[in-house]
Amino acid sequence: MTDRIAVLGAGMVGTSAALELRRKGHEVVLIDRRGPGEETSYGNAGVIARESVKPINSPELWKILPKMVLNRSAKMRYAPGYILKNAGWMTRFLWNARGSKAADTARALDALLGLSKETHLAWVQEAGIPQRVRQDGWMDLHRTQESLDGGMGETRLFDELGLRWEVLDAKALHDLEPHIKPGFAGAIWAKDAATVDNPGAVVKAYAKLFAQMGGEIREQAVTGLEQAGAGWTVRLGAESLEAKHVVVAMGAWSKPLLKSIGVRPHLANERGYHMHYAAEGNATLGRPFYDVSGAYVIAPMEQGLRLTTGVEFNETDAPKNLAQWRMAEANARMAFPLAEKLEDEPWMGRRPTTPDGRPIIGAVHGRPGLWLDYGHQHVGFTSGPGSARLLAALIGGEVPPIDPAPFRPDRF
Ligand SMILES: Cc1cc2nc3c(=O)[nH]c(=O)nc-3n(C[C@H](O)[C@H](O)[C@H](O)COP(=O)(O)OP(=O)(O)OC[C@H]3O[C@@H](n4cnc5c(N)ncnc54)[C@H](O)[C@@H]3O)c2cc1C
Repeated sequence: MTDRIAVLGAGMVGTSAALELRRKGHEVVLIDRRGPGEETSYGNAGVIARESVKPINSPELWKILPKMVLNRSAKMRYAPGYILKNAGWMTRFLWNARGSKAADTARALDALLGLSKETHLAWVQEAGIPQRVRQDGWMDLHRTQESLDGGMGETRLFDELGLRWEVLDAKALHDLEPHIKPGFAGAIWAKDAATVDNPGAVVKAYAKLFAQMGGEIREQAVTGLEQAGAGWTVRLGAESLEAKHVVVAMGAWSKPLLKSIGVRPHLANERGYHMHYAAEGNATLGRPFYDVSGAYVIAPMEQGLRLTTGVEFNETDAPKNLAQWRMAEANARMAFPLAEKLEDEPWMGRRPTTPDGRPIIGAVHGRPGLWLDYGHQHVGFTSGPGSARLLAALIGGEVPPIDPAPFRPDRF
């Protein structure tokens, strides 16, 4: 039996895992049906969100839930059939939206995101792309003083975790970002976040580094997985590949593959959309912002100003529902001088989310050589590298860099 490790899925999560495993001297093959970083890891808002430790199923979810049920909000939408089909997952997701559980998750994510940011900053240097990273944070914009005061609740958590932040009044916001339109009471500036100008290009640069270190990349669809003696057979259509270890890192698509081998995936899709825009006149934006009442992000990217939307619970491949994006666009035009759209149709991605808002990282009990690394929800672009370091230490039998317990696959 070969000692090879096959990593399935080359988004930020799988590419990072492959890179870290290769650095440790393993023989690694990274397999994706497309090129690296062409799905969800391409189209996100590009925030290395060091401070995003609060899962979306925190106690605040209960306050907004009655509005969300109406299914007209820009923040969260759902396909009713999807909710019914995933009623068990939804129930556990809501059950975990309680203070003590969200606080445990925040502590676990704090460790993972800290490790991840440090790793990103080292890897962008090694991959020769430091110019893609800005280290000047991002902001939550609040329309009213009441909303800003409410947002200050989160800064208590930032203080506990030693994260830097600053509150900006309307004037200070204008001084920092003069092209944001008036009408905001102020902003909370999370200063430890970093941001990139093209998330897909960052994944591709990490994949190139992996290949330069002797890693193998295959552009083939995984069609099945079978335990074979002391290892695994990965089915790739008519071909197959033998490996001692397999890492499942296919984001939202991990679900059908795991179900096919009898492993419960604990996963739901939070779909999201983006569109690029030109700016009117000489308008520029220094860093991304999230408009709390409008429920969208605008992030300055190489491709233009990227508007990303909130959450839509729906099947991976159900047709796009553009209502939420239209609403986000209308809200965004009130906040920033956006000019014409730069594409015909919005892009769509899938945030892979677990019932407790923590990724699943580690070994599957009773299936030697099967490793999981998926479920990175809203922070997978950030947390791919830290997850990779944890996973590679577990596979190598080393002391893990952070506590693996909160991410264990058998915790549910
Ligand atoms: C609108 C939006 C904004 C976001 N903003 C941010 C942000 O600012 N910061 C942040 O940290 N996170 C953000 N996220 C979340 C982040 O993008 C995801 O958590 C992350 O991309 C997940 O990475 P992944 O590698 O697990 O999945 P993906 O990037 O989806 O990768 C999965 C890979 O599996 C491959 N695959 C699927 N099926 C097969 C098969 N059968 N055979 C072979 N390969 C297969 C796919 O081709 C794909 O490359 C955002 C997400 C969205 C939707």
